[in-house]
Amino acid sequence: MQAHVITAHGKRMKLTAVAIPQPGPREVLIRVAAFGVCHSDIHAVDGDWLPPSTTPLIPGHEITGRVVAHGQGVTAPAVGTAVGVAWLGGACQHCEQCLNGMETICAEAVSTGYSRDGGYAEYVTARADYLAIIPEGIDLVRLAPVLCAGVTTYRGLKLSGARAGQFVGVVGVGGLGHIAIHYARAMGFRPVAIDIDSSKLELARRVGAEMVFDSRSEGTKAVLAATGGGCHAALVTATAPQAFEQAVEVTRLAGTTVFIGVPSAAHDKVQLSVSNIVGAERVIRGSNVGSRLDLQQAVDFAVRGLIVPEVEEVDFTQAAAVLDRLRNGRVAGRLVLRLS
Ligand code: ZN
Ligand code: ZN
Repeated sequence: MQAHVITAHGKRMKLTAVAIPQPGPREVLIRVAAFGVCHSDIHAVDGDWLPPSTTPLIPGHEITGRVVAHGQGVTAPAVGTAVGVAWLGGACQHCEQCLNGMETICAEAVSTGYSRDGGYAEYVTARADYLAIIPEGIDLVRLAPVLCAGVTTYRGLKLSGARAGQFVGVVGVGGLGHIAIHYARAMGFRPVAIDIDSSKLELARRVGAEMVFDSRSEGTKAVLAATGGGCHAALVTATAPQAFEQAVEVTRLAGTTVFIGVPSAAHDKVQLSVSNIVGAERVIRGSNVGSRLDLQQAVDFAVRGLIVPEVEEVDFTQAAAVLDRLRNGRVAGRLVLRLS
């Protein structure tokens, strides 16, 4: 099969002929239909997160396709079923976190396209019990971004504690941010988009942001004034340190800021005012991709037609060039590679 392979960190990913993988026990083999390109894939190539990705590696964790074969002991989903593969590729299922519905932070969690091969290929193997089930009649190209950008922002919104009718800030309107706005709308929140790029703010408006702010010209004060005291919760889907700092500042008294974007290890520090957090009883928390329950719920929102990712389709062979584009930040919406 053809697959895009990272042979060593910092080296350009290469389209290579490799053997079709065989599904192991508890796994299925999937014929890939489409995969979205996520910012994390750049970190898989660069090896600048801690811990770094394994190499050699086929990246990709935003995958849709169909089951074509079962590994030992697998009976479901049936061959032919449309499925999605996400970042969470497996977990121990018996540690404190797994038992507590937080398998996303299991110490033994497996990361698709990072610690095991992912979907930048014609076929991928995956644990049968970690798949999202996709009903028939769904466009597998348009759905692909839900498998990472969707589930990640959906969980972040759930963990923000926001309630219907409340303002939710989305700081950074890229692949994740524009989908966060869709979910915020679908969950009854009032999305407030903040970015430094006017084309991305335009996209934010198009997908349902109630207000948009260009943080180059309109600062924190403008957001606080327009929302009558700030957002009840804010999601950081960007990775620049200033984005995290601003997100905390635009939340209201007792508001919650959820960190979702992950910068490279070299830019992993932010500066925050302690008195601003203590005095206003603000909450800051992290949210890491999503559990299997989050994943199936996120897919169900999309299946019901409430989440319509802004997708630019690109040919499968162009993955390396697409990563370059994403690296330069010139992407509004999500780039999705389609296989024939
Ligand atoms: Zn991702
Ligand atoms: Zn565990």
